[in-house]
Amino acid sequence: MDCTNCGKNSLIQVPEFEKTYTVCLDYGEVLSIKFENLDKLKKYKNHKN
Ligand SMILES: [Zn+2]
Repeated sequence: MDCTNCGKNSLIQVPEFEKTYTVCLDYGEVLSIKFENLDKLKKYKNHKN
């Protein structure tokens, strides 16, 4: 995958616990964090911030 910040083909996906991080190997930036188990997050839906 090409990094949208530096344009290099340096993106990797790193699974960690219930999330997947998309990381640029050149700069160490985390471009996105994806939760894999959305059901576990639904308990937060009705919380007021
Ligand atoms: Zn990059």
